[in-house]
Amino acid sequence: MQKPESIVVLTGAGISAESGIETFRSEDGLWANHPVEEVATPEGFARNPQLVYQFYNQRREQLLSKEINPNAAHSALAKFEHDFDGSFLLVTQNIDNLHERAGSQNVLHMHGELLKMRCLNSRMVFDIRESFDFDSHCQCCRSPGNLRPHVVWFGEMPFHMNQINIALEACDVFVAIGTSGNVYPASGFYQIAKLRKAHTVEFNLEQTGSTFDTHIYGKATETVPQYFKSLLD
Ligand code: NAD
Repeated sequence: MQKPESIVVLTGAGISAESGIETFRSEDGLWANHPVEEVATPEGFARNPQLVYQFYNQRREQLLSKEINPNAAHSALAKFEHDFDGSFLLVTQNIDNLHERAGSQNVLHMHGELLKMRCLNSRMVFDIRESFDFDSHCQCCRSPGNLRPHVVWFGEMPFHMNQINIALEACDVFVAIGTSGNVYPASGFYQIAKLRKAHTVEFNLEQTGSTFDTHIYGKATETVPQYFKSLLD
């Protein structure tokens, strides 16, 4: 393969699994006890906001605990971005901040961020590290009941789609790491890249059923550093 000039990387919950954050489908994870319809849809939030606040408060608390740290796969992507002289975009479906903590710079969180909240009135976005709920007063309207997690729920439009599509159409390598390919529109990114004749590579523990040009199976902390080092050689 020729030395790539433009790379787009998509990451999913699998890249953070070895840091201790449960994936969407892990059997004993937080998600297992909370059906997505309850905690990750606008309808679920309207039905039982306290449950949704509690779910994201728990996840935020876990993310900020001493035990959760970026792993070798996050670090390998940050190092690659630093050393690569072409164009590099990291798109993540993850709402954690492990890519930034590893040193990645050009990161788009298409499904939002756990450490942000949004006012439903003004649409202003605020950083948040503590718990918040229906009774919390927002900084702009100073009244309770207007704040929600700044995450994209099922049925809502992901963020940064224009910028992502432009990068996908211009890339010569597209890499997907630790994503099941079950969540649209991220599941279709490799097809957009393929239309532009990009080389497509998937990293996962197991087969996902998607037809990438190359499939690399194994733990992301072992496979990802090796691959990105070889791209620079
Ligand atoms: P998913 O849970 O549907 O799939 C995770 C994939 O990662 C699976 O295919 C699994 O085989 C693979 N995987 C697990 N451990 C791995 C490892 N060590 N190395 C390589 N691959 C591994 O996740 P998804 O496709 O990202 O979609 C789920 C949705 O849930 C996303 O929208 C995401 O926003 C959200 N989510 C985010 C987080 C997070 O922020 N860390 C965690 C859970 C879910």
